[in-house]
Amino acid sequence: MKDGEFRTDFVREPAGLKHHPALVLNADYRPLSYYPLSLWPWQEAVKAAWLDRVDIVAEYDQIVRSPSTEIRIPSVVVLKDYVKPRKRVAFTRFNLFLRDEFRCQYCGSKGDLTFDHVVPRASGGITSWENVVAACAPCNLRKGSKSLRRAGMSLRKPPRPPAAEELRNMGRKFPPNHLHDSWVDFLYWDAELEA
Ligand SMILES: [Zn+2]
Repeated sequence: MKDGEFRTDFVREPAGLKHHPALVLNADYRPLSYYPLSLWPWQEAVKAAWLDRVDIVAEYDQIVRSPSTEIRIPSVVVLKDYVKPRKRVAFTRFNLFLRDEFRCQYCGSKGDLTFDHVVPRASGGITSWENVVAACAPCNLRKGSKSLRRAGMSLRKPPRPPAAEELRNMGRKFPPNHLHDSWVDFLYWDAELEA
């Protein structure tokens, strides 16, 4: 990874998701993924229901017809077989930004994010969960290739590898712009219980 070359426009919205996507829940009724939110194009949801791999939990008003049958488009489906969440969190740009909540770890700002090596690479700092943080361009510039102390800067929290569950919960803070009414209960119910 090279400092300064990354952007924050991560959300991929395949064209097929624009119309009547289905929220996909694991067998425990929690979304398979929060960020990006686990959504299927309606065609996939209908197919999975047809193949008996999911149960339909909620539906849109719209109906699709084939010559032999008709079905309401599912808006929420739940997998019949539980998918074990991955334990290991991949060290990716996206996951690192997510760990840092898309905020500069020096000043907390949300704009114009890049990455910063806490111990500069010139001083032997490696590219790892423990040594790379999200940083805004001005902070990145201010810090340059100085140590934290020499730059007179401090981190909001010590960088470390996130646990999978931690990252999942982080993702819940970034819902997509569009949420269908039938999804909302499933996106937040476990948060309510924790409160
Ligand atoms: Zn900053």
